[in-house]
Amino acid sequence: MSTALRIAVIGSGPAGVYAADLLTKSDAAKAGLELSIDLFDRYPAPYGLIRYGVAPDHPRIKGIVTALHKVLDRGDIRFFGNVEFGADLTLADVREHYDAVIFATGAIKDADLNIPGIGLNGSYGGADFVSWYDGHPDVSRDWALTAREVAVIGNGNVALDVARVLAKHADDLLPTEIPENVYAGLAASPVTDVHVFGRRGPAQVKFTPLELRELSHVKDVDIVLYEEDFDFDEASDEAIRTNNQVKTMVGTLTNWLVEQEDKPQTASRRLHLHFLHSPVEITGAGGAVEGITFERTELDGTGNARGTGELVSYPVQAVYRAVGYFGSALPELEFDYRRGVIPNAAGRVLDAQATPVPGVYTTGWIKRGPVGLIGHTKGDALETITNLLADRDLLPTPAQPELNAVEEKLASRGVEFTTWAGWLALDAYERALGAANSTGSLLRERVKVVPRAEMVEISRSAELESAGDASHSHG
Ligand SMILES: Cc1cc2nc3c(=O)[nH]c(=O)nc-3n(C[C@H](O)[C@H](O)[C@H](O)COP(=O)(O)OP(=O)(O)OC[C@H]3O[C@@H](n4cnc5c(N)ncnc54)[C@H](O)[C@@H]3O)c2cc1C
Repeated sequence: MSTALRIAVIGSGPAGVYAADLLTKSDAAKAGLELSIDLFDRYPAPYGLIRYGVAPDHPRIKGIVTALHKVLDRGDIRFFGNVEFGADLTLADVREHYDAVIFATGAIKDADLNIPGIGLNGSYGGADFVSWYDGHPDVSRDWALTAREVAVIGNGNVALDVARVLAKHADDLLPTEIPENVYAGLAASPVTDVHVFGRRGPAQVKFTPLELRELSHVKDVDIVLYEEDFDFDEASDEAIRTNNQVKTMVGTLTNWLVEQEDKPQTASRRLHLHFLHSPVEITGAGGAVEGITFERTELDGTGNARGTGELVSYPVQAVYRAVGYFGSALPELEFDYRRGVIPNAAGRVLDAQATPVPGVYTTGWIKRGPVGLIGHTKGDALETITNLLADRDLLPTPAQPELNAVEEKLASRGVEFTTWAGWLALDAYERALGAANSTGSLLRERVKVVPRAEMVEISRSAELESAGDASHSHG
């Protein structure tokens, strides 16, 4: 019988990996507490939204992947891919095999935007588009990129990602890890104008300065701004004075506005940034998007926007809403449907009576909501694992803590789980595909494998080949 503290982490995005890593580096571990950690993910690949959210033309994020890779490559944390909590593994299973479980399931869906016309053909969720261009295994591989004029609703980094990928020429994305079907789809896109709309003013945008400035480096795409959108109330002035990030972004936007006066706009595509526009209705005949109507807003002195009653319409053939991500409920756990999070007190999961559920914890976006950068998930994870370790004398004892018990259970259910060795094989396969598709100065570091069945097959056949290691046989 194992004496180690057995911990399951559900979700191998940054929050899950950080939680597992921080456990192994905790004071308790240094003082001799033996830990045995299994990390599960519903995908055969680890890294969550770093793989399926972060835009392909943001290679600097790869540095973070390298750090997470090193953690999982050490061998003291087991990875089980292609295992979905709620379908392949239940809370009862987790309780049977582990002292504690940490849910780090993140978010993958769009927050709703309830305006008339949102269901028309050509009205899309930004998160779905992100999943498509990042080669998510569970979304359709086809995306209708037929619009010449597109509206993107939202003023956060995801809106900028969506707008930039839509506006960019496909060849400029070719050196990235985009899948083949994504390149082909973008290459055939007739888009000329992408309009990004925010409800408030330039001092209230939720972009980060780096993402904003990046727009000016996109080849053959002009940025277009509108003087009437540059309104600043007292709260804006205060934010510009006291917040460097706001000051930088307002400075960047104002410079672009001034520069565009003298600079001829010659690019074949344009990216328009509109402020003080609140979406009212997506319009269209015959079931397809033909336009979008906004109410102009004004700032109310506190940085909030109020309607002016003035309506403006734009002809567009596609609308992408990028108004935030939203977490999904997990079977057998309470869920806060207003915030899209698992109810918790500093990482301790709560039941319907707001009482901590013994041995059940949460971290990352599903704990605090889908905002913040990858780095923020580390602080989250630290809080959660600190509380877990503080509770360790109270944790329920699992009936079957043996290392192979969970593998045997998954195998007996026919779950085609993958392992770290399998991911290494898939990773190598994707890199080799990248090398094979590189020509001359075009270097492709990786080409993603998209279909889940193919990902699983590549992972599992490599695992079987590297036999000899009995712990990797799946029966
Ligand atoms: C479009 C987009 C672009 C972004 N760009 C950047 C950026 O450039 N820089 C930056 O710092 N941050 C960026 N972020 C933010 C960053 O992605 C998040 O801060 C971070 O990924 C949150 O980590 P997480 O581990 O909580 O969730 P996630 O990354 O969502 O990971 C959750 C994991 O849980 C797994 N999971 C979910 N449900 C189950 C289940 N039932 N069973 C098993 N596994 C499950 C998922 O498959 C996933 O792997 C971006 C986010 C988005 C949406």
